[in-house]
Amino acid sequence: MKSWIIFCFAFLITNSGVIFPSDGNSVDLIFSNLQRIYNQSHSSNEAWKTLAQLCDDFGPRLSGSENLEKALFWIENQLREDGFDSVWTEEVMVPKWVRIHEDCEMIYPRRKFMPILAFGGSVSTPNEGILAEVLVVKDFEDLERNKSQAKGKIVVYNPPYEGYGKTVQYRWLGAVKAAQFGAVAALCRPVTPMSMNNPHTGVMHYEDTIPKIPFASMTEEDVLLLQRLQDRGIKPKLFLKILTKDEGLSPSKNIIAEIRGTTKPNEIIAFGGHIDSWDVGSGAHDDGGGCVASWYVLKTFKALGIRPKRTLRLVFWVNEENGLAGGKKYAELHKDETHALLFEFDSGVFPPNRIGFSGADSLWVKVQKFQDYLKRFYPELQIVQGGGGVDISPMTKLGYPGGSLGTDDKGKYFWYHHSHTDTPDKVDPKDLNDCISAIAMFIYLYSELM
Ligand SMILES: [Zn+2]
Repeated sequence: MKSWIIFCFAFLITNSGVIFPSDGNSVDLIFSNLQRIYNQSHSSNEAWKTLAQLCDDFGPRLSGSENLEKALFWIENQLREDGFDSVWTEEVMVPKWVRIHEDCEMIYPRRKFMPILAFGGSVSTPNEGILAEVLVVKDFEDLERNKSQAKGKIVVYNPPYEGYGKTVQYRWLGAVKAAQFGAVAALCRPVTPMSMNNPHTGVMHYEDTIPKIPFASMTEEDVLLLQRLQDRGIKPKLFLKILTKDEGLSPSKNIIAEIRGTTKPNEIIAFGGHIDSWDVGSGAHDDGGGCVASWYVLKTFKALGIRPKRTLRLVFWVNEENGLAGGKKYAELHKDETHALLFEFDSGVFPPNRIGFSGADSLWVKVQKFQDYLKRFYPELQIVQGGGGVDISPMTKLGYPGGSLGTDDKGKYFWYHHSHTDTPDKVDPKDLNDCISAIAMFIYLYSELM
């Protein structure tokens, strides 16, 4: 009797404040399904093995590459074997940019090989390469102050890492700004808080009215070396050869799989990640992990036989890294279907610590109360205002609600991001399972309670 009273008291405390289902389903049923989702997601390391297989067997998946198309073919077949209600693909034309050859060597004051990675979209140097003096600048203001010295030089940007969003502007605008002052090429410190002598690639930008010069990431170590030499009055000289090819557009696809909703099948919850990656490493954190986590969310519902009210639509978006063609195509084809939510996971696979949400106030009032359900499983996880992702942005811009999973990477995500080191050994299987169940629980609550 005593234990029964304690149980009831504990139940009242832990369940106080939760939103009750409006359809007669009980809070107990919701909690029981959340527990089943948690248990199923943590029952094995299958998700990590799938991620490793994706990364190891197909390698990096740059838009336009054979690797990507082979990976897409494999995923589509696997999804059909999973037995979801429907699986289909939608053609997307994506850019095809190819890295052919890269070589950078300091020639003066001593010879030193310097690893580089051209930024995506960079033009080539002449076939025979460039031999030029270096001008190291700390930021765009420093370049402006020293613009009279930039002509004929290789401008090397040395901005300290001040967070991805702020520092990435040097990668995006660096070629244009250096070319304006007559530089023959530009190189940049990688956008990372920690370097072990690895350059990081990523998308860059040209303007039609300004000469296009080759642009690549160096390692932080080499940029700092060039800076120290310059500070001592030495004028380092580099040999630089970058050969790339722009092959125009190439056919690719988004892949979609669904479990149809029971009572609200026309209200869609679309969720996923981007299946393309950069052409180095194997895109494990960015965004193979996001794709595989989303895939296992749908597999979890299937395995448990949970049929949600709303339709769950898993999307593998293509070409997030250098074009957003997949996200745009999705919006073009599906903007008139009612989307209850679009959800993206593209923040690296680390312990989940927040779910971001952007939507009408009336929705937010309910969504923030999901925390009362989730805190039993994830005491640290916060539901916060402001969610979304690049792939879902063409839909959220139309006014659809957007959500995303955030993770506590302790600053590590950008150690690996867009570099040779983004491989599955950097992904912890337990973190991946935690991400899967956090997304599955949120989506389940959204489907059943909104
Ligand atoms: Zn990404």
